[in-house]
Amino acid sequence: MTSAARAYVHGLVEENLGLAKGVIGSEELPADLVDLIASAVRGKTPREASSPQVEQKLNHFLLEVKRYSLERDGFFAWKARWPEARPFAACLTHDVDNIEHTRRHILATRRRFTARDLILGLLGLRSLYRNFGLVAGEEGRRGFRSSFFLLTSNYSLGDLLPSLTPLKENGWEFGLHGDFGTHDSLEKMREAVEKFQNATGSSPAGVREHYLRFDFEKTWQIMESFGFVYDTSVGARESLGFPLGFSTPFHPPTHDWSSMKILEIPLVLMDTTLWGYLKLQEEEGMHDVERMIEKVREVGGLFTLLWHQEAIRMRGGRLYPRILEKLASMECFVSSGVGVASWWESRSVPLVREGHEYRFAGNPPPGLRLHLEYSQGRKPRVDAGDLEVTQRGNLVKVNSGEFRLSVE
Ligand SMILES: [Zn+2]
Repeated sequence: MTSAARAYVHGLVEENLGLAKGVIGSEELPADLVDLIASAVRGKTPREASSPQVEQKLNHFLLEVKRYSLERDGFFAWKARWPEARPFAACLTHDVDNIEHTRRHILATRRRFTARDLILGLLGLRSLYRNFGLVAGEEGRRGFRSSFFLLTSNYSLGDLLPSLTPLKENGWEFGLHGDFGTHDSLEKMREAVEKFQNATGSSPAGVREHYLRFDFEKTWQIMESFGFVYDTSVGARESLGFPLGFSTPFHPPTHDWSSMKILEIPLVLMDTTLWGYLKLQEEEGMHDVERMIEKVREVGGLFTLLWHQEAIRMRGGRLYPRILEKLASMECFVSSGVGVASWWESRSVPLVREGHEYRFAGNPPPGLRLHLEYSQGRKPRVDAGDLEVTQRGNLVKVNSGEFRLSVE
C-alpha cells in the first residue's frame, strides 16, 4: 500500500474511532486493516459482507489500542461515536420515485392496501402514493426526522413545494434523488441540481442516486464538485448485506488518496430489496429488518434505512411504523441524513492529548461524550465537563470548549 493510502486510512481510523490526534501513528496501523479499508473505499471489497466487517475490525483494533495505552500510560480516553454515547444510530430516508399512479395501477395492485385506503384511493379522496404527511406524522410523534430525496424529472417540484415547505420548516430534509445519468455525467448532475435549485430556492445538501447507480471512479468526484454535504447511494440492492463492509459515515478518497469533503453515509437496507428482490412475506421482511438492526447495533454502527415514500401504505401500511416503534424502544440516535452528517462533522473536532491531559482544538458539539478507562489508583479530573459512571463504563460529558480531562 502506498504511503498516501496509509495516511488516508489513518485519518479515517482516527475519525471513526474518535481517537486523540496522533496517539496512534500511521505506521502503527496493522497492514490488514489498512488493506481492508483501502480496498473497501475503492469499491473492491473482496466479497460482499453479510456483516459490517470494517467496523468489526476497527472495534477490534480499538480494543488493542486501549489495552496497550492502559499498560503504557494507565489511562485511555476516546470520543463516543454517537450523541450522549448512545450505543448505535439510525438514519431514516425516503426516495420519492412517484407521487401518483393511475386508477388502473391501483386496481392491479389492490391487494397491497387496506380496504379503506383502496376505496378512498379509487374515489380520488386519498392519494395512496403521496405520503409525506403520513410519514412525517409517524416519525414526528416519536421525535424523529428524516430525509426525502426528490427526482427532478418525474413530477413537478414546484407543485409539491407548498406541501413540503411546512415539513422543511419543522426539520425534515429534502435532498436530491439523482436522475438517470447523474452518477457518471457532470452535465446531467448540473441539470438536476439547477432544476432542484430553481424549483425549491435552495441547494440540496444530500443526494441519493436513483436505483443506487454508482461508479467508484466518478460518482463521488461529481458530487464533490457540486458541494453536496453527503451521499447515501452505496448499498446493496438485490440482497441484504454491507457491500462496503461499512455502516458508519466516512470521507471518500480522491484519486490520489486525499480525503474528500463529501461524506458517504452507506445505505444498509431498502424496502424494495425485501419485496422486489427477495420476495419475502411481511413477517419475514420484518424479521430481516430486525436482524440488520441487530448487526449494526453489535458494532455501534449506523442503520441507514431507505423506505420508499410511495410504498408507505403498502402491506396495509403496517411495516414502517413497526420499524419506527422498534427503533424508539432501543437506545438509539435517530436522525435524517443531514442530521447524521452534521453530527459526524461536528464530532470530528480534534481531540488533543498532551501528557496526562485531553482537550479539544475547537468547539465540541453538545451531546459529545468521551469514554474513559484508567488503572486502579489513578485519579481523573474534569474541568467544564462531568464524569458519569454508567453500566457501560465511565463517560465524560463535555460541556464547552474549555473542557479539560486529566488523569494523574
Ligand atoms: Zn429511485
